[in-house]
Amino acid sequence: MNHNKKWAVVGSGPAGFAVANILLDLGIEVTLIDANLEENDEYIFPNLDRLSLKTKFDSDLAYRHFPKGPEINVGESEVKQSFEGGGLSSIWGATILPYTERDITNWPLNLSQLKESYQFISKKIPVTSSDFSSSSDYMDFSSRDKLIIPDEINKLITSIKFKCPDISVNQSQISIENSSKSTNQCIYCNECFAGCRYNSIWSSKSFFDNSKLKKFDKIRVLSLSDSEDCIKITYCDLEGTIFNNLQFSKIFLATGPVETFRILSESGLAPKNVELLDSGTFYKLFFRLKNRSKTVTNYSLSKFYIRLQDENLIHPHFQFYEMDSHKIDILKKNYKLLKLVPKFLLNYVFSYFLLCIGYMNSEITPRIAMSRDQNGNINLVPKIYKEKRQKSRLIAKKLEKELKKVGIFSFRFLEQNHASGSGTHYGGWLPMGAKCDLQGRPYNTKNIHIVDSSIFNDIPAGPITFTIMANSARIGREVWEEEFL
Ligand SMILES: Cc1cc2nc3c(=O)[nH]c(=O)nc-3n(C[C@H](O)[C@H](O)[C@H](O)COP(=O)(O)OP(=O)(O)OC[C@H]3O[C@@H](n4cnc5c(N)ncnc54)[C@H](O)[C@@H]3O)c2cc1C
Repeated sequence: MNHNKKWAVVGSGPAGFAVANILLDLGIEVTLIDANLEENDEYIFPNLDRLSLKTKFDSDLAYRHFPKGPEINVGESEVKQSFEGGGLSSIWGATILPYTERDITNWPLNLSQLKESYQFISKKIPVTSSDFSSSSDYMDFSSRDKLIIPDEINKLITSIKFKCPDISVNQSQISIENSSKSTNQCIYCNECFAGCRYNSIWSSKSFFDNSKLKKFDKIRVLSLSDSEDCIKITYCDLEGTIFNNLQFSKIFLATGPVETFRILSESGLAPKNVELLDSGTFYKLFFRLKNRSKTVTNYSLSKFYIRLQDENLIHPHFQFYEMDSHKIDILKKNYKLLKLVPKFLLNYVFSYFLLCIGYMNSEITPRIAMSRDQNGNINLVPKIYKEKRQKSRLIAKKLEKELKKVGIFSFRFLEQNHASGSGTHYGGWLPMGAKCDLQGRPYNTKNIHIVDSSIFNDIPAGPITFTIMANSARIGREVWEEEFL
């Protein structure tokens, strides 16, 4: 078997991690290229003014577009990009859920084609098990360590299961280290709404120390050109002053849907105007009459999920969080009147509240026009459709009706539809089977494989990253098989 080919992965977030990992396991020498692989320790930026923007210890570093070169103007779309090592995985919420068959009805794949890759990824990252793992929406992680959640939340889940047969509910499955044998074990410090100081939330950065991996750091890939037997990468340094080339026999592009569009469009491999699909989001505050948590010191990752089983409402997904002291601080900062109320009183009142983030399928979510101008800059403009907003209202109403049965009520005036892209689940501008093949090759290319969410056929409601990783690993394996079997 000839394993002397030079294969490169561009992008070190979850998608790049997945494909690099499977190729290494299959005996390929992989070069990992990223704008910034090193941990950056600039943590002081005390400007946490939005609940939706999860910063890293109050620093917005992960969202800064520090490499010089073409700009990405996200406008009012709230689409987030990160050039930090590990991409957005350094600040994500770590909720993990595989897609179900109904989530991928528009895909040219079925679930059995992803199953092996989900299993591959789940062995590489920590995933918590729950008492409810036997649900068909879940993979069986029963051998893993359990996530400790408050008794009150367990009671709540049980009573929703019992009294609301129309919805499926489960304790969240989270990608955090919680094995007592690990030095990174989660200590429930309650600070995870601002990243994880103790590295217990899984991030692809843990992979960079792998000695088998060749690394090419601190460069921004600008464009690619594909010839019969090699791919030429044109790149610049982070200052935008030195330009150079690298050559590989295959490239796996995992730079996130916006930068992947910029690179491909710049390379003449994609049009200048496309539509980015997005999973629409709304925030809602619920009030529980019973089962309030006695303390507000519980960790602040998502505690449980709900999925509505209504075919017409295309299976929206809701994640529930408790109001921990960190979130209360943010509210205090945003609402002047709350500043006058003593913290202990706010803690007491908010222990009755649950924060819900609702996600919808991209089919009923405004799309985002994404274009590249003549200077290579990218502009994003959300397209607002009134009727889609109405659909999300219907979904919220249905959830309210169900949860009333277990003594959980909502305040409509505390409900907020979020700008396109704020849910951080987007992609789908280069769908498989239509604009690229099943191995992520844009048409007319032979050795360039797109492995991030750019190639999704739609964006189902619910966490996206486990599937980004599974699909990326699937592509890696299939390309290896094409080449060597
Ligand atoms: C606050 C927040 C919470 C989230 N919570 C969840 C959650 O709970 N569950 C979930 O499933 N998902 C969540 N997500 C989404 C998740 O973070 C993304 O789905 C995931 O990071 C996408 O992975 P990726 O590898 O495709 O891209 P990215 O993570 O964006 O990685 C891209 C990488 O490519 C590098 N790069 C980009 N352009 C270039 C270039 N030109 N040259 C060289 N290198 C380049 C970047 O430096 C980066 O390392 C969350 C996101 C945010 C922001």
